[in-house]
Order: sequence, then structure tokens, then C-alpha cells
Amino acid sequence: MENNFHIYNTLTRNVETLIPNEDGKIGMYTCGPTVYHFAHIGNLRSYIMEDVLEKALRYIGYDVKRVMNITDVGHLSSDADTGEDKMLKGAKREHKTVMEVAQFYTDAFFSDCRDLNIKRPDVVEPATNCIPEFIHMIQVLLEKGYAYQAGGNVYFDTSKLEDYFVFSSAVEKEQLQVGVRDDVEEDANKKNKNDFVLWFTKSKFEDQALKWESPFGVGYPGWHIECSCISMKHLGEYMDIHCGGVDNIFPHHTNEIAQSEAYLGHKWCSYWFHVHHLNDKSGKMSKSKGDFLTVSLLKEKGYDPLVYRLFCLQSHYRKPLEFSYEVLDNMATAYEKLVKRIAELKDDGELDEAAFAEHKAQFERHLCNDLNTSMAITVIYDLLKADINDKTKLALIADFDRVLSLDLLAAAERMNASAAGADPELKAYVERKLAERAAAKKEKDFAKADAIRAELSEKGIVIKDTREGTVWEMGE
Ligand code: AMP
Ligand code: ZN
Repeated sequence: MENNFHIYNTLTRNVETLIPNEDGKIGMYTCGPTVYHFAHIGNLRSYIMEDVLEKALRYIGYDVKRVMNITDVGHLSSDADTGEDKMLKGAKREHKTVMEVAQFYTDAFFSDCRDLNIKRPDVVEPATNCIPEFIHMIQVLLEKGYAYQAGGNVYFDTSKLEDYFVFSSAVEKEQLQVGVRDDVEEDANKKNKNDFVLWFTKSKFEDQALKWESPFGVGYPGWHIECSCISMKHLGEYMDIHCGGVDNIFPHHTNEIAQSEAYLGHKWCSYWFHVHHLNDKSGKMSKSKGDFLTVSLLKEKGYDPLVYRLFCLQSHYRKPLEFSYEVLDNMATAYEKLVKRIAELKDDGELDEAAFAEHKAQFERHLCNDLNTSMAITVIYDLLKADINDKTKLALIADFDRVLSLDLLAAAERMNASAAGADPELKAYVERKLAERAAAKKEKDFAKADAIRAELSEKGIVIKDTREGTVWEMGE
């Protein structure tokens, strides 16, 4: 296959031509969610951009296999193996077992993904499914002298590597370490400051819920080992692209590379794709802050989740993005206007193949330029203005939506269906009522919103809340 796809690689700090290990095929791995709470819309920014990356690669012809883990054990409050166990924290908060919490938030995560049109990866594997694989890798690391046992735990010995800080120059080392919380106590068992836990047996949590037998004692795995093992289990010893948010660079991905390459004895993953953070006015959005924005909250406030997807696609994945309701409102208007213009197109005429190919090439060029999604979207506006027939425009939009997943044609169809066939006077009345209901919902006056629905229902008018807003029809 011709290699036209260019992507920024955090490992080399350059935009590079993507050259897969096997021609035409891409093995891709995504660090999955830690399922002790709902995903916030910041987490979902990362998953949206990773989804677009996968779809863009498929669009240009790659055969992609994508694997994702679910972190349901081992992730402590600090990514550097100290603090509270996140799953245990979730279980205590909700008076449930750890596995109940894991199942609930895994389901909630995939429900958010469905709302945002994020495709489910080909393989999804919870960490607790793979304990034998973790134990095997730890055993090999011990045999090879890359790991040691101390105070009951097993640690990776970072001093055994020539270059542990693979992502950074010496200057950046300091900055990267700021990512690690410094309000937590040092672990006296560690030989070197950056050593990390592969297997815990001596934990400060008396009531650690999940424990397994192992040659190193009854215990549970550290966080980083899961991604190395789960990716190798499904993608083999060589991986093309590994994804995550920028906070994963250090220590998580640094540690993944350390243990994987020590275990394999060769280079492991070629390209590292990192999505920058979504921030709100007070700074980085984080689950541990407690008060964070979720997809359900956006829906409650009357936003279509796909408007949030559009918001993410309108900015480059390598730039921090600031969330505000003002910007989201602007996006909602932009989405509605775009859908309205598409709804006006008529599906007639012959497909103009030359025009189709020309616009498709432009769209592809932007995707291949380090996943420039906002420029890719401008091609839709260009083609709407272009002197080509509606049939070709509709065909192009359908084709682009394989990557963008904004449901543009379905939204336009629903808009047309809702507007069709209504008596102008009735239409004006219903629209006034729907506007009143939307305002009531925005002010959280749900009693008033329900009363309006009931009033319409009495007149035989059935309303439905959809992605493009509320649609209505005369009931039976
Ligand atoms: P977690 O569930 O905390 O393990 O995080 C899931 C994913 O979300 C990881 O890839 C993180 O790097 C990413 N992430 C965390 N916070 C943010 C944020 N504010 N913006 C974008 N991505 C984030
Ligand atoms: Zn990971």
C-alpha cells in the first residue's frame, strides 16, 4: 500500500510517514478507562480522536485491528503506584462490590461511546481476565534480572535500562515528573525513584477486594503491566500505534515500554499517539475532582452528544481544548445549520465521478496530514458551495461520515420528515410549545416540560427527543 498517512509520533517528536510492520495492516492499542466512575467528557475527547484515527486509517484502506483494555484492578490514585486503590474507592463510595462497580461503569462507558458514535474496538479485555499473562511476564522479567522482590512486592528495576525516559530529553524529565503527585509518601522498598510495582502483595489496604495466587504471593497486579500483556496477547510482539491521553506519557507509557521491551528483547511499538487534554476554566478535567462533566449531563441539558463530537473534531488533537457552554452552543447552531443545508439537497441526477474523486482526495489529504479533522470538515462546506449536483454532494457527505460519524444524512432525513406535511397553523403552535418546553428543560423545570408534553399529547401530538432536537408527529 502507498504510505501517505502522516502522524505525529511522541517517541520521535516528529510528524512521520506511517509505515506499518505488515503492509496494509495496522495493529492499534488504546488504553481503556479506569471503571470506578463515569468517564468525563475529557476522557471521551481522547476516545473520540482515537476513534477518528481508527476510522481514517480504515477509510484510506488499512485493515485495522484495535484492542482496548478495561482497567478494573491495580490503578492507584497516583499513577506512580501510591495512594488509594481507585476501584476500592468507587466500591466504598457506592456500597457495592468492586466487580459490580466495574460492570456498571464499563456499561456506562460503552453507552457514552454509542451516544458519541465511537466504534467499539475489535477486542475489549478487562485486566482481571488476564492475571495468568501478567504473572508470566513478571516471572520472565524476574528471570532476566529486570525485576526484584522487596517488602513482599515485585518491582521493575529502571536502573537496568540504558534509557528509561524514552519520551524525553533530560530537560523534559523534570517537567514530566511534575505529572506525578508529590503529596504521596515514597515507597521505601524501591531501589530507584522511578521503579514501579509489577505485583503487589503488601498493600496498605487491609480489605483489598481482588487478590490472586501467584509465585510472588497472594496479591494483585500493578497498573502498567496490563497494557503490555493485553496488547501482546492480541497484537503480537510488534505493534504499530499505541494511543492515550497526554497524561499517559509519563509514567504509564514510559513504564509500558520499559517492561515490554525488557521482556521481548526488541523494540515493541512504532508510533505513539497522544491526545491533548480537554480543560475547563478551572483547569484539567479529572475524575478525582469529583465534579466533572459527563455525556449524560450534556444530554440532560438538552445537548446532542454529536454536537460535542463536532466540537472535538473542530480542533486539532495535539492542542489543548477549553470547554465552555458558550462554545458548545455555537457548535449546536453550526451543526443544525449544516444539517439544514444538507436537508435541502435533492437526491437526483447522476453521480459526477470526477467531482466525487476530487473532493474525496481533498478530504483524504487533510486526514493524512496528522489527522487534521477541522480542515477535513471544511471540505463539506466547500462541496456544499461547489457547482456540482446534489446527488454527488450527498454521496460525498455519506462517504466522509464514515470517518466523521456525525450522522449528517440521518439527521437531515429526520429534519425533513419532521417538517413534512404539517398544517402551517398547527406547525406554528407546536413549535411555540416545543420552544417553551426546551426553555423549561434548560431551567430544569421538568414539571413544566412534562405538562407541555401532556398538553400536546391530549391534542394527539406525539413528541420525540432526538439528536437534532425534538421532532413531532400526529399520533394514531
Ligand atoms: P482513565 O479512565 O483515567 O484511565 O483515563 C482514560 C483516558 O482519558 C486516558 O487515555 C487518559 O489519558 C485520558 N484523559 C484523562 N483526562 C483527560 C482530559 N482532561 N482530556 C483528555 N483526555 C483525558
Ligand atoms: Zn495503558
